[in-house]
Amino acid sequence: MGGVLRDAEPVQRVTSDGDVVTVITSKSVHKARSVILAAGPWTSQLTEPLGLSLPLEVFHLPLTLSLVELDHSTTNKVSNFVNVY
Ligand SMILES: Cc1cc2nc3c(=O)[nH]c(=O)nc-3n(C[C@H](O)[C@H](O)[C@H](O)COP(=O)(O)OP(=O)(O)OC[C@H]3O[C@@H](n4cnc5c(N)ncnc54)[C@H](O)[C@@H]3O)c2cc1C
Repeated sequence: MGGVLRDAEPVQRVTSDGDVVTVITSKSVHKARSVILAAGPWTSQLTEPLGLSLPLEVFHLPLTLSLVELDHSTTNKVSNFVNVY
């Protein structure tokens, strides 16, 4: 058991022939019986070539918060807005 942490080596593609999973990175090729993909919201980009479509999407949401003194009602509205977005 154990593992090797490979920093600065982005995964470019993951393929599988059913028995062996091949992980192609910017620096090398790794083969394993099983692979855990934990690329956060970018995971779907790696699973799509495998025919697996995940409902994950990356998008930018510009958000500016100003710290001002608010009354209770306005505080609740801001809080609800942040929870929704
Ligand atoms: C602004 C913001 C604030 C948040 N605040 C909170 C909070 O307060 N509390 C909370 O519980 N959650 C919070 N979250 C959510 C939390 O960050 C995520 O739920 C959590 O980080 C998901 O963990 P993960 O390991 O699945 O993915 P991530 O943390 O996204 O990790 C995925 C990793 O994979 C790497 N990666 C992606 N593609 C590749 C590739 N091709 N090759 C190699 N590596 C790759 C990425 O660089 C990243 O390091 C917040 C999220 C955001 C965006």
